[in-house]
Amino acid sequence: MRPCLSRPRDILFRNDIVRAISTSVYPACHIPARAYHKQSSSPPSLRGTQHQRPETFQTRRSFISRRSLNTELVFEPKIPASDIPTFAFAFDIDGVLLRSARPLPGATEALLHLQKNNIPFILLTNGGGKLESERVQQLSEKLGVPLSEDNFVQSHTPFKLVVEDLSKRRGKSVEDTTVLVTGGDGDKCRQVAESYGFKNVVIPGDILTACPSIWPFSKIFSDSYKAAARPLPRPIDPTNPKNSLQIDGIFVFNDPRDWALDTQIIMDLLMSKDGVLGTVSEKNGDETLPNFGYQQDMQPKLYFSNPDLLWAAAYHMPRLGQGGFQAALAGVFNQVTRAKLKRTVIGKPHSATYKYAEAVLINYRKKMLDELLGKGSRRKKNGAGKLSRVFMVGDNPASDIQGANEFNSPTEATWTSILVKTGVYEEGTEPEFKPKVIVDNVLDAVKWAIEQEGWTDNVGKVER
Ligand SMILES: [Mg+2]
Repeated sequence: MRPCLSRPRDILFRNDIVRAISTSVYPACHIPARAYHKQSSSPPSLRGTQHQRPETFQTRRSFISRRSLNTELVFEPKIPASDIPTFAFAFDIDGVLLRSARPLPGATEALLHLQKNNIPFILLTNGGGKLESERVQQLSEKLGVPLSEDNFVQSHTPFKLVVEDLSKRRGKSVEDTTVLVTGGDGDKCRQVAESYGFKNVVIPGDILTACPSIWPFSKIFSDSYKAAARPLPRPIDPTNPKNSLQIDGIFVFNDPRDWALDTQIIMDLLMSKDGVLGTVSEKNGDETLPNFGYQQDMQPKLYFSNPDLLWAAAYHMPRLGQGGFQAALAGVFNQVTRAKLKRTVIGKPHSATYKYAEAVLINYRKKMLDELLGKGSRRKKNGAGKLSRVFMVGDNPASDIQGANEFNSPTEATWTSILVKTGVYEEGTEPEFKPKVIVDNVLDAVKWAIEQEGWTDNVGKVER
């Protein structure tokens, strides 16, 4: 074939892209105006109130060691550890907190109340396609609640964990590893991938711009592709594989906008040798090998960020989601090869996403406890039970509820599912995956959960 040559990538061009998610705009923890009291417990401890010093921090000095010459901060717990619950919440966003970008009834009150009372929560969505910082800022404005990236997980957020593992598996440094990222508007998902630590991120528009013959039916989109395209890190030259574009991993970050182009390029890579675009593996079709020899020759691993076949949009009927693209690609692959498409899928209801979310939630809670009870040994001494239960509040039985019901927590926390009526679930129907309880909205979900845990407060009567 005629090689598609492109000029080497300009390093300066790479460096001007935002690489890291900025630190949180909003504080991760919120100090309560009042303590949160358990129904059956004795009155709250007077520690920190009756004997409270004028200032929370106090300095003391010793003359014995060099270390003690430094000022040491003595932390006074801001509230008794007994006032900190051992339960937490995980909220889906669409259909639970928002609908068509508008806050749902009770959403703002529920989140503010949890923040005010030091009850940790995480936002866990199968949505994506934007930087976490961007999405958190938009959500904060829509809901009128200060939110943080520290407790926010999009469908593709767990891909952060893949960066180094992928390079190790390919025997490369992170700097030498190249990934293909598809989905989303323009090159937004490239920016997200770079913020996760991927160093060389190629999108289908880069490849089409460098080699228009790779998919002859995309001319109609060429202007929009050119607007976001960057030069390829290496040319597409299968006659010289060592210096040709090699893709080490394929990541579907968000719903592809041009299924045809993405399907063609992903197929080319899955049929290649070693992920070198334009080559063909000699193992393909070998019936003595597993999967008829397909995906057996160091082709890039294929990842999908969520399995959602359908999703609720502005149209009156559900629309095909990323799961639709996955099914289409698997069908094409099977038609071409007779083999089964091997891929890794994360996102709700898959346990990998729940495991990741739980780890984020525990870390978020630890930061909260550090702030309230003191860090490290002081926090342990002051005491606070470990996270024992997470209430997953969702509107989709096949995603939120199934995932929570089936998740086996490595920390032995119990996940309890709560289905709300404000999203895709149709009242009166029997959900395929049964929640622990069905409630009207997210505020009712919070009230129910708090009561189940034996706590009480004026949930719903929050000062704003
Ligand atoms: Mg939802």
